[in-house]
Amino acid sequence: MPQPTVLITGGAGFLGSHLCERFLAEGAEVICMDNLVTGDLRNVEHLFGEPRFHFQHQDVTEYIHVPGKLDYVLHFASPASPIDYLELPIQTLKVGSLGTHKALGLAHAKGARFLIASTSECYGDPLVHPQTEDYWGNVNPVGPRGVYDEAKRFAEAMTMGYHRYHGVQTRIVRIFNTYGPRMRLNDGRALPAFMGQALRGEDLTVFGDGSQTRSFCYVDDLIEGIHRLLHSDEVLPTNIGNPAEMTILEFAEKVIELTGSRSKITHKPLPQDDPKVRQPDISKARRVLGWEPTVKLDDGLKRTLDYFRGRVEEQAAK
Ligand code: NAD
Ligand code: UDP
Repeated sequence: MPQPTVLITGGAGFLGSHLCERFLAEGAEVICMDNLVTGDLRNVEHLFGEPRFHFQHQDVTEYIHVPGKLDYVLHFASPASPIDYLELPIQTLKVGSLGTHKALGLAHAKGARFLIASTSECYGDPLVHPQTEDYWGNVNPVGPRGVYDEAKRFAEAMTMGYHRYHGVQTRIVRIFNTYGPRMRLNDGRALPAFMGQALRGEDLTVFGDGSQTRSFCYVDDLIEGIHRLLHSDEVLPTNIGNPAEMTILEFAEKVIELTGSRSKITHKPLPQDDPKVRQPDISKARRVLGWEPTVKLDDGLKRTLDYFRGRVEEQAAK
């Protein structure tokens, strides 16, 4: 059987670059499409020597032309960290709406299976805990995070529309906080912020009193879950994340402990609409995909720390 051709939008980003590697490793032809607005070519430069890897510099909100056959379209393009989407509100709305439309149109034209990277942010500041897929969420559409949350909710609706109306084979993954190598040091997310601060000996900035919770999943576990979902028959949204929940204060303390840093914790104001709790209910992923995370937080954090050490040293040398 000929090897599949996979298009990954946002392929030069954190998650996209890991997906490119995964599909190349199993013999696929991979087209990595990105406009590099929040991504970095360095995330994929080690793949440039591979003849099955193709980079296409393109904004996915514009008409997408891809020659030849396509078997899978994985739509991951979008600013993803709160400071990125607060700085790029219109681009975030456009890539979730127009970009998803273009990517779905392409999948339809090519007869390809489509998978969208959705998010736990669809649940907003949740009133159901842990979050199950049938919970409709508690999102403030006109708050600062609304540009991201509503773009993703629209993207899910558009995906279901293409499935129901055009019969496109679609999959929706609701990704919960994921961490690992190739996150951007300055993207403002808790993990890069804390690791950078701990490694530089600066105080760790915990927003609010730090009692808000998150549940962190190591990137390799997430990629495995996405891969299984893509190859499953499950059309409705599926949570993929690690249910090991902790407060942000505990998370900051864990980073200080692992780095052996002398940093202390300092508190900054809590951003508007910051969800108070978040934990995926992964019963469906367990049942339908036979998937659950396997990487323990300490192990994942150690692997990530090696990466951030390099980044912090590089920054210091500039
Ligand atoms: P990232 O910023 O590292 O990657 C996103 C990539 O999309 C970047 O390379 C960026 O340049 C590209 N991009 C953005 N707009 C584009 C456009 N208009 N045209 C082409 N490329 C564009 O972020 P990430 O953490 O890898 O997130 C990837 C996807 O997963 C996003 O859709 C995000 O919403 C989703 N997601 C991520 C997480 C997480 O914890 N990392 C959680 C939930 C959902
Ligand atoms: N956070 C923090 N300090 C930081 C960055 C983030 O306390 O320097 C908090 C943030 O307010 C949120 C949690 O950490 O409660 C996770 O934030 P992140 O931006 O990583 O992801 P989110 O889940 O909010 O999208």
